[in-house]
Amino acid sequence: MGTTNTLTENQGKVKTENESIDIVKSTQTIIHEALQYLGYSEETYELLKEPLRMLTVRIPVRMDNGKIKVFTGYRAQHNDAAGPTKGGVRFHPDVNEQEVKALSMWMTMKSGIVNLPYGGGKGGIVCDPREMSFRELEALSRGYVRAISQIVGPSKDIPAPDVYTNSQIMAWMMDEYSHISEFDSPGFITGKPLVLGGSEGRDTATARGVTICVEEAARKRGIDLKDARIIIQGFGNAGSYLSKFMHDAGAKIVGISDAYGALYDENGLDINYLLERRDSFGTVTNLFDNTISNKKLFEQDCDILIPAAIANQITMENAKDIKASIVVEAANGPTTLEATKVLTKRGILLVPDVLASAGGVTASYFEWVQNNQGYYWTADEVMTKLRTILIDSFHKVMASAEKHQVDMRLAAYIVGIRRTAEAAKFRGWA
Ligand code: GLU
Repeated sequence: MGTTNTLTENQGKVKTENESIDIVKSTQTIIHEALQYLGYSEETYELLKEPLRMLTVRIPVRMDNGKIKVFTGYRAQHNDAAGPTKGGVRFHPDVNEQEVKALSMWMTMKSGIVNLPYGGGKGGIVCDPREMSFRELEALSRGYVRAISQIVGPSKDIPAPDVYTNSQIMAWMMDEYSHISEFDSPGFITGKPLVLGGSEGRDTATARGVTICVEEAARKRGIDLKDARIIIQGFGNAGSYLSKFMHDAGAKIVGISDAYGALYDENGLDINYLLERRDSFGTVTNLFDNTISNKKLFEQDCDILIPAAIANQITMENAKDIKASIVVEAANGPTTLEATKVLTKRGILLVPDVLASAGGVTASYFEWVQNNQGYYWTADEVMTKLRTILIDSFHKVMASAEKHQVDMRLAAYIVGIRRTAEAAKFRGWA
């Protein structure tokens, strides 16, 4: 983030791609280890170390200036032994093939941890939606669906929102797919607006899930949330709702950030004001003069740190400077594998992404079930079911960590990979 200023655009891209290759390698390492703990053979690892399918597409879009621009998009399907693949689509300039690959593998873990009948999938388009008009975004969203339509569908692979995509984008994608399939197909995609078959509680579900994990982790560490000082990196869908839920629980939010900078105040920030002023991409720090960098934010004093933005934020460079005693990962991949080891050694309780952020896909599953049934649940029903699943999953992972004497990340992978590994075995794939 801070370093991109000193790099040319191309050098920046190469750096991001190299980081993504490292993320895939770390994911493979930890999947391998988890399978060994579960007693699976090398054959199973051979099957699960890469996505089964990876599609790269080129999407021509007529821009507002009259010219055609061709965008690159991806869809990765890690493994569909346990059921159709499932996972979001991100719109971001740094999207690359390796990142999408790793993200699809993490979706397998999330679905496995909360025990959903899905495998992992993920998609992405290299673009900057902050610089595109509404019309251009609609054309891109529809073009992406046409490009991937052969490999997706309500019982094949079900997309959802992710970084910089929202319910409007899901609506366009669902409409396009319904035209292609010649049926109204709400179950093709989740995270839709309520009137198009969306579910109550889906928009806040990721933040709800993280909140539940924060509560359980705080209880485990004997920290009262009412006195806790919390830093949240990122003010997008997850980060903004999270800051509200934590604030409502009586915690003091001492730091927040967006893609451009961070705010820190040891006496607590005015969260309601910040929520009111943020734009739809979660930008708010541009309204202030006294900002610090995202990098500096991680070194500030707090009890609980919640990275809720992008990957590779806690690394070997800053793992020793983290002051929190609990780190709960709301983003995908914010901590490297080496940094996880440093934090664990330092006695910091790290609740990994594949557990902490699984509330989103859990509510997506509820949405898909409701679409398949054509019968819709109340917000209370959704919340009660979400809560039960997340609390149970937290304790399953905690028990696995204690049983195997491993950190929470490896414990989460041991729990997460089991369903797919077992399903693959029954199908005779490994
Ligand atoms: N993109 C979200 C995630 O990374 C949600 C995926 C979904 O709802 O399918 O977990």
